[in-house]
Amino acid sequence: MIIIMSDTEIIQGKVKTVFTTDEPDVVLIQYEDKVTAGNGRHVDFPEGKGKVCMEISEFLFKKLEKSGIKTHYIDTFPERIMSCKKVDIIPIEVVVRNVAAGSIVRQTTLEEGKIFDEPLVEYFLKDDDKDDPLLTQDRINLMGYGNEIRTLSFHARAINAILKGIFEEIGLTLVDFKLEFGYDSRQNLLLADELSPDGMRLWKEGKSFDKDLFRKGKGDIVESYKYILTELRKLSEQ
Ligand code: 5GP
Repeated sequence: MIIIMSDTEIIQGKVKTVFTTDEPDVVLIQYEDKVTAGNGRHVDFPEGKGKVCMEISEFLFKKLEKSGIKTHYIDTFPERIMSCKKVDIIPIEVVVRNVAAGSIVRQTTLEEGKIFDEPLVEYFLKDDDKDDPLLTQDRINLMGYGNEIRTLSFHARAINAILKGIFEEIGLTLVDFKLEFGYDSRQNLLLADELSPDGMRLWKEGKSFDKDLFRKGKGDIVESYKYILTELRKLSEQ
């Protein structure tokens, strides 16, 4: 049994809270009924959102583990709590894109919906105070993460192939998604954070089933996320 101690350290993220435990290598991550956009400028508290995000993450972490991807996932508990291996997060957000959408459309001449021949892997600084800027290879080298980038790119592409296949099976296009990685106490590189429609774009027949619904005020995210979870669970039953 894992115990949250009185001297537990609490790290408050935008939509998740991380608690240290009596086991130095284990943290508990509580998924909140909260959604933010515009780097925290828009906030809402949809009921059921934490649970569905945790359960989609659990489903996808387990699928990835089965395919040989090392993740921080350990187990889930009531009250939207997931136990995870404690990692030192690499402060680089890895974004994989299969189709042009979001910032790449705003910042380039590419049109939304353009399908890429090969997945594009991009790197952003994980720093809300600086608005998560796009990084260049030279900047990454100067930050001291030059060697890691090849490994992160390799893992991100492998994860993309697996996730894309899973979502295709339920009729959804995995447009893009964000990954975070970290090192555990034994310096193993693990996939961390969460894997839910909060950090990915999923399209079906011209409609979004992800956080863009909230960003653009176009629909109920919890309903869409629950639809995804139900469809994913049907896959396990097959
Ligand atoms: P974009 O660069 O187009 O804003 O985002 C690309 C993909 O990464 C989208 O699926 C988006 O949801 C995800 N993403 C990028 N940055 C973040 C972030 O800070 N938090 C979350 N939850 N997702 C992000």
